[in-house]
Amino acid sequence: MCGIIGCVGREDDTLDVLVHGLSKLEYRGYDSAGVALSGDRVDVCKKSGKIEDLKGALEPRSIGGAAGIGHTRWSTHGPPTDANAHPHLDCTGDVAVVHNGIIENYQSLRDELVAVGHTFKSDTDTEVVPHLVEDALADGADNEAAVREAIDRLDGSYAVAVVVSGDDTIYAARNDSPLVLGIDDEDEGRPAYYLASDVPAFRDFTDRVVYLADGEFATLSADGWRVSDVDGNAVDKDVDTVDWDPEETGKSGYDHFMLKEIHEQPRAIRQCLRGRVDEMAATVDIGDLGDLSPTGVQFVACGTSYHAALYGANLLRNAGIPAQAFLASEYATSPPPIGDALVVGVTQSGETADTLSALREARKRGARTLAVTNTVGSTVARECDHELYIRAGPEIGVAASKTFASQLAALNLFTLGTTRVDGKRDIISALRDLPSNIQAILDESQAKAVAETYVDSDAYFFIGRGLQYPVALEGALKMKEITYKHAEGFAAGELKHGPLALVTEDTPVFAVVTGDGEMARKTIGNVKEVEARNAPVVAVTDGQSDVGRYVDAVLEVPETHPQAAAVLANVQLQLVSYYVADELGRSIDKPRNLAKSVTVE
Ligand code: GLU
Repeated sequence: MCGIIGCVGREDDTLDVLVHGLSKLEYRGYDSAGVALSGDRVDVCKKSGKIEDLKGALEPRSIGGAAGIGHTRWSTHGPPTDANAHPHLDCTGDVAVVHNGIIENYQSLRDELVAVGHTFKSDTDTEVVPHLVEDALADGADNEAAVREAIDRLDGSYAVAVVVSGDDTIYAARNDSPLVLGIDDEDEGRPAYYLASDVPAFRDFTDRVVYLADGEFATLSADGWRVSDVDGNAVDKDVDTVDWDPEETGKSGYDHFMLKEIHEQPRAIRQCLRGRVDEMAATVDIGDLGDLSPTGVQFVACGTSYHAALYGANLLRNAGIPAQAFLASEYATSPPPIGDALVVGVTQSGETADTLSALREARKRGARTLAVTNTVGSTVARECDHELYIRAGPEIGVAASKTFASQLAALNLFTLGTTRVDGKRDIISALRDLPSNIQAILDESQAKAVAETYVDSDAYFFIGRGLQYPVALEGALKMKEITYKHAEGFAAGELKHGPLALVTEDTPVFAVVTGDGEMARKTIGNVKEVEARNAPVVAVTDGQSDVGRYVDAVLEVPETHPQAAAVLANVQLQLVSYYVADELGRSIDKPRNLAKSVTVE
C-alpha cells in the first residue's frame, strides 16, 4: 500500500505537480517519499519521513525533466530509510522505478541479478525491477519492450511506473494494485497526462480518468496515452468523468475512512497471505519464524489487538500449545512465569507504549519475543527478536477495522507455520476464501437496516463462545468507540452469571452463532434465556444451526471453517456499529478522546 503519482506534459512544473500529488496521497503511505524526473538523465530525490522532509531535501536542488514519477512508501520489505525509499534505480542510473505492492519472487530474481553482477542498494523487493529493465535494455530491447520483459518476470502484486533517461514517457503496469490515468487534453494548449494510485492525486488538474485493469500496460507521453494488454495489443478504454469533490481526498467516494477500510478487508487479507501459503502442499512460510516451534506462548496487547491476541491464544491451544493472552498494561504488574514461552506483542502501530513495556519486561526475564504488527520498522519490530507483518496497509480511521481482520489472518499463519495443528489444508483453503466471503458480506449485508432498527437502544450486548468470544468483545468495543453508546461483550455462557440482570427490551443482544456443533447449541440456549426476558436478539450466523428461529433479525455470513468464521462475523458487527454511529452523526473517523497510536502508558 502506497501512493504513486506520475505526470507528463507539464513542462516546467512537473516537480510541483508530483509533490502536490504526493501530499494528496500521503494517507496511503507515509514513511518515506521520493521523485524521479527524466530528461537527458534521470534525476532522483528521496527521503525517509513525511512529504515535508522530501520538500526540505528538494529545496536546495534543481531537479527537472519532462516526465516524472513519485511515491509515498508504506514499507513491506525493509525499514523506512532513505535507501529504501522509492524511486529505485538500476546500476547505470538510467532507469527509475516506483512500485506499490509486494513482489513475491523478488529473492530469486535478486539472487539471479546479483550473480550476473548487479549491485543492490536497498532491502526492497522493488529494486529488482530497474535491474531487470537494465538487463533487457543491454540485450537490445527498446524502452517499452524492456519494461514489459521486466514486468513479465514478476509474481505478486504491483502497480509499477518507470521512467528511462532521454525518454519523456512513463511506462506503467498493474496487477492487483490500483492505478488510474488522468487525461487532460481537451482544452487548448499542451496536453498533460497523469498516473496515480488514486484520483485525488491529480483531481485538481483533471476529472477525466481511465481505470487500468489487472494485466494492463500503459504508456504516457506528451504525444498521448495508450493502454495495451500483456501481448501488446491495444485495449480500447473508456474515459470516465469523476464527479466528486477534490476535497474528498482518499476516501474514494466513501463517507468515512472507516467504511472504506472495512471495504478494503478483502484486499488486506490477500496481502497478508500473499506469498506465504501453499494450498497444494498445505504449508505456510512466514520467514524465519518457521523454526520457532513455541512450547508455550504469552500474548500481550491492548484494545482491539488484545481481542486478536485472545483469538490467537485460542488457536494455539487448539493446536496443543499452552497459550494465554494478557492485557499489556497489566502484564508488567504481575508477570506470569515465563519459562521458555515465546512472548508475542500484537500492536497495529508498533508503538503502543503498554505493549512495548510488557515486551521489555518479558525480555528482561529472558523471554524470546515476536512482534505482530502492521508497521515495518516500528519500535516493536526493532526491539523484538522476530516480527510478523500483517500487511493491512495504512489505516486512517482511529477505530481499528481492517487491521483486526489482518491480525486474525496473520495469527492463523503463525499457528499454521509453527505448530502441528490438524487439518492445515482446510484452514489454508478457508483463509484463501476469506476475501471473497468478506466481499459477499459487504455486498449483501443487512447491517444498515439492523442499525436503523436499534439506533435508539440504551445499550448493546454481544455474546459468543470459543473463537467467537473475542469477536463479541471486539463488536462491543467498536460500538463504544464510534457510537459512544454503552456496549458490552460477554462469553455467551457468562451472561446468566450476572449480566443478564441488565437485559431489557431496550438492550439488543448480538449473538454470534456459527457452525452447528456443541458450541452453537449452547449459545442458542443463551439466546433463549435472553429472548425469555424480551430483549431483541440479532444473530450473526452461517445458517448451519436453527438459531434463526429464535431471533428478531439475522445477519448472514457464508459457511466456512470455524477459524475463518470469526473474521466474517466481525465484518457484520463492524458494519452495524458503523451504521449506528452514522445514524447518530458521530465523528466516526476521529472519535472523541481516542488516538490512533497510543504512545503513553
Ligand atoms: N514492497 C515495496 C517496499 O517495501 C513497496 C511498498 C509500498 O507499496 O509502498 O518498498
